[in-house]
Amino acid sequence: MTKHIASHEMPATPTDPALSAARGGKINVAMIGLCGCWGCTLSFLDMDERILPLLTKVTIHRSSLTDIKRITERCAIGFIEGGVANEDNIETLHHFRDNCDILISVGACAVWGGVPAMRNVFELKDCLLEAYVNSPTAVPGAEAVVPSHPDIPRITTKVYPCHEVVKMDYFIPGCPPDADAIFTVLEDLIHGRPVALPRSLNHYD
Ligand code: SF4
Repeated sequence: MTKHIASHEMPATPTDPALSAARGGKINVAMIGLCGCWGCTLSFLDMDERILPLLTKVTIHRSSLTDIKRITERCAIGFIEGGVANEDNIETLHHFRDNCDILISVGACAVWGGVPAMRNVFELKDCLLEAYVNSPTAVPGAEAVVPSHPDIPRITTKVYPCHEVVKMDYFIPGCPPDADAIFTVLEDLIHGRPVALPRSLNHYD
């Protein structure tokens, strides 16, 4: 069976020495979406114009914003959206843990599994049957096929929060977290302050 190639195992784009020199003193920040809906990444963008001054202190490395697929320089901070639901998620999360000083679970899916973890109360085979064979949206008369191919990452039997796979350093709850919460944590870490998320940004009642 052909081994599935995780995205971070793909050939790296060579680092541009001139660009690296121009970064002087800035820290690298990486982000990735695992099993989530990208809503937390959109919340990051909701920092709006506050992102611009941050860019004098931060270089955004691997992320969906830069479309960089592999971490090639040590990152100070890694933001993780989504939980772990397949083998690629496991490999990617380990890659981030190995290459980031601080790793942060962003949002309910990363913190405790979130909506995708609702499948944990069922057997995986029953979920696949419901999705691909007995689905109310299945085309009548069409042959039902459960996708299976060496290039498709194998699904894990359960959906796991990130901290059950690797050590996570901080947790930002919410679905998605407020952009102010992400900004506060990022600012604290950039300035070397203890992370202090005020209750006003950290309660949902
Ligand atoms: Fe989407 Fe909510 Fe999960 Fe974030 S926590 S990835 S917004 S479902």
